[in-house]
Amino acid sequence: MHCHYAEDPARRPQCTLTAVVRYDDVALCPSCQARRSTLGKGQRPLPLPTSPALDVLNWVATAHQQTIAAERLLAAAVTRARQTGQPWSAIGTQLGVTRQAAQQRFATPSSQSNPDQRAGHTRAIPHEATKRRSRAS
Ligand SMILES: [Zn+2]
Repeated sequence: MHCHYAEDPARRPQCTLTAVVRYDDVALCPSCQARRSTLGKGQRPLPLPTSPALDVLNWVATAHQQTIAAERLLAAAVTRARQTGQPWSAIGTQLGVTRQAAQQRFATPSSQSNPDQRAGHTRAIPHEATKRRSRAS
């Protein structure tokens, strides 16, 4: 079983990753158990059976595969959102990025010609405005 702090290397660089005790659903390695402050005060630690040390390279590989799977899932969700008529601005809001950033990341060549892009972002409009301004001066 992983230590509760195994996924927080910035805060617990000394964590030895493999938990040896458990307080309710929080498992701790010997190092984090020694640094324990308020967590589990007054609670009796439950010793965990000895488990093999965490294979960190295997963890890297697993996390990488999960990232690829999550990226595929995100791309599918974005495609479905587009297919159901959601604008890039709404998708961008969900991703915490601008409409343009969402579109640049996920737009495929076939979705480049979507109506909302043609209506909302044509180069002719700012160009015309520039021409009008230079005529006036
Ligand atoms: Zn730990």
